[in-house]
Amino acid sequence: MKINSIKGFADILPGDVESWHFVEEKAREVFARYSFFEIRIPIVEKTELFSRSLGETTDIVEKEMYTFPDQDAKGSLLTLRPEGTAGVARAYLEAELYKVEPVRKLFYLGPMFRRERPQKGRLRQFYQIGAEVLGRPDPLVDAEVLLLLRDFFSLVGLEGATLELNSLGDVQCRPGYRKALLAFLKEREKKLCANCQRRMERNPLRVLDCKEESCVEVTRDAPSILDYLCDDCRAHFGVVQRLLRDSELDYQLNPRIVRGLDYYCRTAFEWTSARLGSQNAVAAGGRYDGLVEDLGGPPTPGVGFAIGMERLVLLLEMKEARQAPRLTLFLVWVGDAGRAWAFSAAHRLRQRGIAVEMEGEQKSLKSQMRRADKLGASYVLIVGEEELGRGTVVLRNMDTKEQSELALDRLEDELLARRVGG
Ligand code: ATP
Ligand code: MG
Repeated sequence: MKINSIKGFADILPGDVESWHFVEEKAREVFARYSFFEIRIPIVEKTELFSRSLGETTDIVEKEMYTFPDQDAKGSLLTLRPEGTAGVARAYLEAELYKVEPVRKLFYLGPMFRRERPQKGRLRQFYQIGAEVLGRPDPLVDAEVLLLLRDFFSLVGLEGATLELNSLGDVQCRPGYRKALLAFLKEREKKLCANCQRRMERNPLRVLDCKEESCVEVTRDAPSILDYLCDDCRAHFGVVQRLLRDSELDYQLNPRIVRGLDYYCRTAFEWTSARLGSQNAVAAGGRYDGLVEDLGGPPTPGVGFAIGMERLVLLLEMKEARQAPRLTLFLVWVGDAGRAWAFSAAHRLRQRGIAVEMEGEQKSLKSQMRRADKLGASYVLIVGEEELGRGTVVLRNMDTKEQSELALDRLEDELLARRVGG
């Protein structure tokens, strides 16, 4: 019986994977420019890391995590990471990175897991490129990560993405807004979806993030957080906006952006593209000044973002444009002696750094040439019985169709001299 993949878990096949390489390469390039360093965190963490840092009433923690018992520790649970920030914060604390250098700029690449309804742009295993700056409270760094994102999008050739910006206030001013919003929602409670009715009391801001038509309708005239910011938050947000304007980075204020997770405060943002349809966010992030402390660490402000790889690759639609790296040399051989010679030559040339391929079974010359063509080989080396006898092989340049005879005993030097593989 044939076994298929699980719904929401996709393969990334050769032909597509080149686009991913391209995007990842550009990400590394831009992170280096902004002095970010890579961190690799585990895919499995203790469940309480996520329930504590994301918040018990978030969609992720309530219903989307892949959680299973830890067979080595009775009673404890493990979870496939649904996002990267919690793990990075945990690692920062565990390795006491703050002791050596309190400001850390970190990035990560890798798969995340959420049990959501699979659809276009929404998978159950999906990949994120994410970054976190730990230890900087200043608004300059909020602006810096947004500029980094703009540079990255421009490097990969993404056009038409819009930056939507909001401030979520902080512990001083958010409670006042929360109260006003809750009062507004209570008057309209019956019109909200069952999920929002249930968790409205515990987390009214989450209603603004609900995608149900009824909730979107009800909250259209809801009070705006931007009218409730305290002086400190207002000043912080003012500087972020001024820096963006000075750098000619256009944005739209959107007071409905609350982000799904509890740990956010002050700056919150999404980069959206209308071309994505209803799952329109290609990247999202914001400031989370309380998270590290909540996890038991010293007070450490943070700001970060995550880019959705699948959505970005979808937008770039560059399948045709990105090609697999070309094969340098294809060895065409005839007869047992030809095969034996080709096998050992292939190995020697690969050791010299040349990309080489050959058939394993005798095929017609024509079929071997077709295969070389398919693989995009730049050169073909034809190892005939007659030539071997003479101590030579024929080298064919597949672009110019020029052929020349090379001496076997000087083959590697001749190839390198002709810049085959160089
Ligand atoms: P959305 O509102 O689209 O559900 P989110 O707020 O849940 O997004 P984040 O947790 O902020 O998303 O993750 C950052 C980015 O990761 C998103 O903007 C999106 O591009 C991508 N992303 C999130 N969930 C998925 C998913 N299930 N499948 C594919 N990409 C995803
Ligand atoms: Mg989501």
